[in-house]
Amino acid sequence: MTTEVASKVMSFDLDDANYLAGHLSAQQLRKEIHNTDIQQSVARCFGEDTEAFYWEDFGKACELALGIQKASQPKVEAREGRFSVKATKEAHDIVDVINRYTKLRKAGKEYIGKCPFHQDNHPSLQVSQQKQVFYCFSCHRKGDVINFIMQIEDLDTKRACLLLRA
Ligand code: ZN
Repeated sequence: MTTEVASKVMSFDLDDANYLAGHLSAQQLRKEIHNTDIQQSVARCFGEDTEAFYWEDFGKACELALGIQKASQPKVEAREGRFSVKATKEAHDIVDVINRYTKLRKAGKEYIGKCPFHQDNHPSLQVSQQKQVFYCFSCHRKGDVINFIMQIEDLDTKRACLLLRA
């Protein structure tokens, strides 16, 4: 990237963040933020400071976009939300739910797959159907089916339960 181009695209403003919020899912945004970290380090390694700043800016725009998405989520109360964590967990098998985000395959007693929270080249995600929990050996994210939805969709407990129920 030439310096001229870089200086043009370097500053992301609110419009850009809004655009990102409207065009990428929360999951994609989180992936971009993660990739951005890598790109920044790579650029710094090669002494390409302009690019490092570009990526830093882009990462900030993505984070802002996530915030915009979160703020625009409908209020749960407005959807007359009654929810039960226990009932939600009982009604949704963790393997089925995670399979919607990343392909899982059976490996012995557990299921494994590529972790959807980051660029995963090896299957780091382990899911136990028996215990109804997941764990990533790479990014150490873990929890039950509701924790998974909360993290991947960036929702609170209530909203995660309602999303699963929907
Ligand atoms: Zn992971």
